[in-house]
Amino acid sequence: MKTRAGLFRAVGEPLELVELDLAEPGRDDVVVRMAAVGICGTDLHQVKGEWQRPTPMVLGHEGAGVVEHVGADVATVAVGDEVVLSWAPSCGHCPDCARGRPAACVPLHRAIGNGTLVDGTTGMSVGGETVYRGTATGAWAEHVVVTSKVALPTGGAVPLRDAALLGCAALTGVGAVLFAARAEPGGVALVVGAGGVGQFVVQGARLAGAEAIVVADPVEARRDQALRLGATHAVHPDDLKEAMKEIAPVGADYAFDAVGFPETSATALRFTRSGGTTVMVGLPPTGLRLDLDPAEFLRREKFLTGTMYGSEDPAVALPILLDHVAAGRLELDSLLGETFPLERIDDAVKASLELPAGRVLIEP
Ligand SMILES: [Zn+2]
Ligand SMILES: [Zn+2]
Repeated sequence: MKTRAGLFRAVGEPLELVELDLAEPGRDDVVVRMAAVGICGTDLHQVKGEWQRPTPMVLGHEGAGVVEHVGADVATVAVGDEVVLSWAPSCGHCPDCARGRPAACVPLHRAIGNGTLVDGTTGMSVGGETVYRGTATGAWAEHVVVTSKVALPTGGAVPLRDAALLGCAALTGVGAVLFAARAEPGGVALVVGAGGVGQFVVQGARLAGAEAIVVADPVEARRDQALRLGATHAVHPDDLKEAMKEIAPVGADYAFDAVGFPETSATALRFTRSGGTTVMVGLPPTGLRLDLDPAEFLRREKFLTGTMYGSEDPAVALPILLDHVAAGRLELDSLLGETFPLERIDDAVKASLELPAGRVLIEP
């Protein structure tokens, strides 16, 4: 079948709208008509050339849409169902899949690095040339063919525009607090970086019952947004030291780096209290390393960990998030920013690179 998609060819070149050839769906596959797809930091790493992945590629992995076709063996969703896409079509039988962490699946990450699915195919081409899949998904397109296990039904509980955010930023950010840090009520949470994921870390901290939520971000609009979502303090990173002296002189119980640069991870670790937990949430550009002082872990007994896709199986975590949305405890709509049609994919990416307060969405 054919569909239209936004194609990324090379760093510095505008993304272009192409007619894409999709492989016929298999017995376990579904075809999803995409309704809304976010632009995530992971997509931007590739657009900016911070990650080397094969091209041409259809990026986009944070999306929601409607099932248009199901393969003969699909029992979990039906035509017409509204679904959120998980970007973890994992192998299903490695140790990480067995422990309920499809997003940590090693064959999946190898495939993502190669721009393919786990079986080495992409199922996408243009004029006979192979097109690679961003994050094993490739959702900046009108239609996507995916294995049914990554088409997670919402039950129509949320508008599809809002649901798109659940596909990556919300699962990642809220999961970082609830499932990676396993934050207990009454603590102090520090969130470094209030972009798309950071705003959900703030909400996760609120859901976990944090007593104080401190946000550090250089962009004022993002700080304001974080305050609206439950942060108790929001400061410019230059003012963080002064602020923490007042709010939590011994440091935060939980600190999250929602950016992913060595400096932001170092900031999160530095302002974690002795015995507290630092969680790396944002993904760094390829090749960067952390410079760690052993005293942070020996003398001060801090825990440093990371999270991939919120440290839970998306199929398990999504219903939990949907419950929070239904109860009014988790905001999606107010986190949305500018919306672009697929034809303006390049403008959408440019808008996203300006670090807006709201998530930029593509409505294919
Ligand atoms: Zn993402
Ligand atoms: Zn696996």
